[in-house]
Amino acid sequence: MYHIEEVQDTMNEKICNCCGRPIKYATSTGVYNDYLHITKSWGYFSKKDLNVDKFNICETCYDRWVHTFKIPIQTLIDENVFKNLE
Ligand SMILES: [Zn+2]
Repeated sequence: MYHIEEVQDTMNEKICNCCGRPIKYATSTGVYNDYLHITKSWGYFSKKDLNVDKFNICETCYDRWVHTFKIPIQTLIDENVFKNLE
């Protein structure tokens, strides 16, 4: 698992762990299309104590995934973006 990530970093390419497609650049300056990155360090009261899971999810897979939730996710507007414009 970690070996795969090292290869991806070397290639300077992010891969969606769900669909396997590359997360493409949004601009020619090397900024990626937005995606979800999760790093989860499992603790003592889990069955994965000491494991650190890391993965990326593209926006398309993210939308598909959260729509399977029984309770809808909470979506807020990030007003800090507008503060920087003033
Ligand atoms: Zn995907």
